[in-house]
Amino acid sequence: LDVIEGPLMNGMKTVGDLFGAGKMFLPQVVKSARAMKRAVAYLLPFMEQEKAESGGASRSQGKILMATVKGDVHDIGKNIVGVVLGCNNYEIVDLGVMVSTETILRTAVEQNCDVIGLSGLITPSLDEMVSVAREMQRRGMKLPLLIGGATTSRQHTAVKIAPEYEASVVHVLDASRAVGVVSSLRSAGDHLRFDAQNRQEQARLRELHKVKRDKPLVPLELAARSGLRAEFRAEDLPSPAFIGTRDIDDQPLDELVPYIDWTFFFTAWELGGKFPELLDHPERGPAARELFENGKRLLDRIVKQKLLTARGVFGFWPAHDDAGDLVLFADQARHSEVARFSMLRQQQMKTDDKPFLSLSDFVAPRSSGLLDHVGAFAVTAGLGADELAKSFERELDDYQAILVKALADRLAEAFAEKLHRDARKAWGYEQASADSMDDLVHERYRGIRPAFGYPACPDHSEKRTLMRLLGADAIGIELTEHCAMTPAASVSGLYFAHPEARYFNVGRIDRDQVADYARRKALSVAEVERWLGPNLGYEPKSSS
Ligand code: SAH
Repeated sequence: LDVIEGPLMNGMKTVGDLFGAGKMFLPQVVKSARAMKRAVAYLLPFMEQEKAESGGASRSQGKILMATVKGDVHDIGKNIVGVVLGCNNYEIVDLGVMVSTETILRTAVEQNCDVIGLSGLITPSLDEMVSVAREMQRRGMKLPLLIGGATTSRQHTAVKIAPEYEASVVHVLDASRAVGVVSSLRSAGDHLRFDAQNRQEQARLRELHKVKRDKPLVPLELAARSGLRAEFRAEDLPSPAFIGTRDIDDQPLDELVPYIDWTFFFTAWELGGKFPELLDHPERGPAARELFENGKRLLDRIVKQKLLTARGVFGFWPAHDDAGDLVLFADQARHSEVARFSMLRQQQMKTDDKPFLSLSDFVAPRSSGLLDHVGAFAVTAGLGADELAKSFERELDDYQAILVKALADRLAEAFAEKLHRDARKAWGYEQASADSMDDLVHERYRGIRPAFGYPACPDHSEKRTLMRLLGADAIGIELTEHCAMTPAASVSGLYFAHPEARYFNVGRIDRDQVADYARRKALSVAEVERWLGPNLGYEPKSSS
């Protein structure tokens, strides 16, 4: 106990201070935590008796429950936050991913937790967090609630979550802020001031939101008439080499490595900046270099020993735009419909005369009589990732466990990039030698691959149609009830070939479009409002 509470904890305190001062970075903190964890594990057998005598464990700062909410599978950020809090002497109860409200709240009570931290990546998780907050209120709980993860925001936390729960609700932007927030919340002297400040800031964000929300939207009918008048010429509409799907059962990993966009690897570890310049950054450079070396070494092992499996599927179908729906057919005569994707159109007022875009603008309308096509794909590089990460966790190596997941994500994105390139060639509009790696990373090529859940097509539930069309379960990809793909390291989307096709943000939409969309998808308005919550330009009627 003396060794732990003396030199080891002093060491971690130094690490914490340097991290707080911006002189150490997350990967180094996580590695330090590994040293601490392993040292404690070594010492534990020697101190069992001592512990019994002294009447318990060393003084923990508090117990924090962490969970990725129901329907979501992403946990890199949550795991990093857990490690960082852990090395600041908080006890972490990590419930993993896809955790129901009931399990979260029951465990928090049973285990006497002091704080609950929720994480999520996809937009449906935002709604899930709202319902956890509501349930905490209903049960009369008082524990502070922390909100984190990629799609969460200060705004959403202030506008949607905090009003549901009377106790503190705090958005924690990143791991480097987690310790400060938790210690303020737990501090006898400071928590009132911190809480008041947090509430004041959230009130301000709610006001801002009201102003933004009340900005006028253009009626759908008008927006639809002002869509992109893309030019469709027969010579711009090449025919793909095949119709239907092709599976890639076992994509060699070494072929994916050159396609990796490393910038996002560093982002996952909160080392901002562009690769490779980041490696020479005056402050972050050394930490980035070390992480890069460790990452490449593990990647090398994964590739050589085939520790992960990558599978994919892609395909092309004759298609046309039918009033905002992309209709895909099994045959060139377009008799047998195989799938229908409903697209959304921008409705936010524009100050210029730019078109109100919908992805359906990039596909020839039925009325044109032209034969156009739409492609689709799904890839994963995460088969085996959970098992591999777990094997590192068993060795008390959170650092490598998190690295595995970050690398699996990179390989999946690289696979998507490579497959898109292959698809453009199979579609016949790109030459074999064409673009450099740099062009690929900067998307300097014709055609796009929008992903459901992203700004141009924000409805995650369309992935159900996509997965069915591709037969994605055959390559091991499944959807959770909120349409997150498992394994987590998976990417999917549609392919568009039109030279003018580009990414954009649908943004806020109005009731008229939600009603129209609900009709097209044969769903209730309430159901559509649930999936499109972040895009609604109005308060839905039944928000509870
Ligand atoms: N190279 C990055 C991934 C690029 S993210 C990496 O390695 O992580 C860019 C991808 O996100 C696009 O290919 C597309 O699939 C999706 N995307 C980006 N913006 C989008 C938008 N506005 N609408 C739909 N999908 C979008």
